[in-house]
Amino acid sequence: MQLYNVKIDNAIDKLKSMNAKKILLQLPDGLKPESFDIFNKFSEHFGVVISSGAFYGACDIGNMEVYNNVDCIVQFGHSEIPNINYPKPVIFIEYMYDKIELDDNIFDKLRENSIKNIGLLSSVQYYNQMFYVEEKLKKLGYNVIIGKNDERLKYPGQVLGCNFSSAHSISLYVDAYLLVSTGLFHGIGAQLSSDKPVYILDLNDKKIKNIKDNVDKFLRKRYGKIERAIDAKKFCVVIDTKIGQYRKKLAYDIYNKIKSLGRDAIIITTDNVSPSDFENIMCDAVVFTGCPRVSIDDGDKFKMPVLTPIEFEQLFKFKNNNKYVMDEIVAVDYSPIK
Ligand code: SF4
Repeated sequence: MQLYNVKIDNAIDKLKSMNAKKILLQLPDGLKPESFDIFNKFSEHFGVVISSGAFYGACDIGNMEVYNNVDCIVQFGHSEIPNINYPKPVIFIEYMYDKIELDDNIFDKLRENSIKNIGLLSSVQYYNQMFYVEEKLKKLGYNVIIGKNDERLKYPGQVLGCNFSSAHSISLYVDAYLLVSTGLFHGIGAQLSSDKPVYILDLNDKKIKNIKDNVDKFLRKRYGKIERAIDAKKFCVVIDTKIGQYRKKLAYDIYNKIKSLGRDAIIITTDNVSPSDFENIMCDAVVFTGCPRVSIDDGDKFKMPVLTPIEFEQLFKFKNNNKYVMDEIVAVDYSPIK
């Protein structure tokens, strides 16, 4: 909380300079136990409501009925998505973990695999750690490159679960990527979006892992699921109204493609997708244009296949289907339905 306290003081100064009276706080689950302290700190100066809903990124500033009634949103734990046109001022209170010391021998795995040119990536929470790793790798004689981000990412080398532009920008120059993070979420996405091997430097157990086997296993399962949509007669094409997931034009493009196949399609909107939505509608398959990780990571929760737009296009040969293509969000359409 120490670091957050400083940032909260800065946010309070900023809010005062904006003359904000009412604010909405969005806290990630890990910070919800601090809700009382954080609420009390802000409410010494402003009217405050805390959103109880889950949110997964800066693509989601919550429910319009709530944010329309405040002067500013304060979101903890994520970095701004620069090319989103937020309808209200949003203050992002990022959290970057302190440096975790690492032994040099952790990196032997890279040399064993003949990797010399390394593209470094990280999720925003470990962004500072990435530069520590860069320094270490350079001292060990590796050539380290940090890629340029597109406008959906705030920092060079940063990745989101839906955007790996920092990796694409250096793909010609690296033998492999090293992602500084924890868990598999960002690594799976990075590997799905890249031809070069992706290694994860998992800071939980301080080990470098090659995730090729995980991704191969994932893809075998995924292709099976995608194939199930080939005979679907009734499709739901879903637009997620979250500000940073809103791809209405893409949804209508997919809708038109489905119609051109002589199949039936409807457009539906959601701001909190749930399996029962589609079960009640009794469609055979779903094309989901919101967060691509809903289709990829939560697909098993749904009875029918839930495809990303690009999976749909590959299945029905609107696009080349030589290799799996990850659905990445570069930019979204502005203006959620009002
Ligand atoms: S769209 Fe999905 S992966 Fe992208 S920032 Fe939002 S929650 Fe994360």
